[in-house]
Amino acid sequence: MQNQKKIFLSSPHMSGNEQKYIQEAFDLNWIAPLGNNVDGLERDLAEYNEVNDAAVVVSGTSAIHLALRLLNVGLDDTVFCSSLTFVASANPILYQGATPVLIDSEMDTWNMSPVALERALNEAKQNGNLPKAVIVVNLYGQSAKMDELIAICDNHGVNVIEDAAESLGSTYKGRKSGTFGKYGVFSFNGNKIITTSGGGALVSNDEEALKKARFLATQARDQAVHYQHSDVGYNYRMSNIVAGIGRGQMEVLDERVLQKRAVFERYNKAFCNIEGIEFQPELEGTMSNRWLTALTIDPKVTGISRHEIIEKLAEENIEARPVWKPMHLQPLFEGVKYYPHEEGNSVSDYLFEYGLCLPSGTNMSVEEQEKVIEVLKELLKI
Ligand SMILES: *Cc1c(COP(=O)(O)O)cnc(C)c1O
Repeated sequence: MQNQKKIFLSSPHMSGNEQKYIQEAFDLNWIAPLGNNVDGLERDLAEYNEVNDAAVVVSGTSAIHLALRLLNVGLDDTVFCSSLTFVASANPILYQGATPVLIDSEMDTWNMSPVALERALNEAKQNGNLPKAVIVVNLYGQSAKMDELIAICDNHGVNVIEDAAESLGSTYKGRKSGTFGKYGVFSFNGNKIITTSGGGALVSNDEEALKKARFLATQARDQAVHYQHSDVGYNYRMSNIVAGIGRGQMEVLDERVLQKRAVFERYNKAFCNIEGIEFQPELEGTMSNRWLTALTIDPKVTGISRHEIIEKLAEENIEARPVWKPMHLQPLFEGVKYYPHEEGNSVSDYLFEYGLCLPSGTNMSVEEQEKVIEVLKELLKI
């Protein structure tokens, strides 16, 4: 039945140069722990994003965890986080035993609502428990309204961690996504726009802080010949082999952004005039890497639900997914405080109910994408 090759949501796409860097590490017997590929990838990332420094680690999640540690988030603290995201944005808040507060999205970007954030911060201030940090996510490559969000946080003296795991290569008002908060986080997980098979990075203009991040990420070893420790550390550093993959991937990052955007354009051309279908907007002044093409489908208009579409596509060996299930709807975060965009209007609930992510791999051929479009057109009866 399923004789055609599976079309994935977003699968790893190597440049061909990765093995050159890995071979170099083998030739030098610089397999682990650190080495020239780690240094090189950190340099590549800092240069590309025009920030002072980057520290590469084992995952985007560990980078968020380190950012929370650098901001001294602990047991009695609160951290605000976008509700509409992958669980990895919020899990590190729990690692620190801190209390998460979840903030809704707005429709212009699908990202954190400045209106909801302001309400939440004002209330927190009144109650005398301002958060230690606000984790702002850039969903599917689209930057949040960073100017507004950072201005609100600055008013309250609260630091922003930018979860740019999905938005490497995107820009906001001409500057690279991930460089707006005190700390920015990238992920090189297998499905991201570039991958190291698994990995992440913490970026910042604060070089002292990133020095501390590297210290924490290597078991927090004090400067002594014997093994001495005064602080809790982690084994979070990226290996020199894995970093070699990253170096090969950085060479094609801009090309991948163009390819992702071309994938989006083909879907957009096919469905932009169809009633009941709305693509995730690209805010004026921003450039999204379109990591995943995401849209909403109103079944009252189209006659078919998001759920049915995913099932029918799966029958054709095509992978599609719902938009992330918001954190405030997760059993893990039951009872956690949540601030909707407006009272009685939760935007992320709407996006979760109607949102669909289409196959967006940069290694998907035009013919494969045309097949996806053809199946979708049949389902939508257009
Ligand atoms: C992928 C992802 C992460 C986590 O990255 P890992 O490298 O998988 O740990 C964090 N936040 C968001 C929004 C992500 O999509």
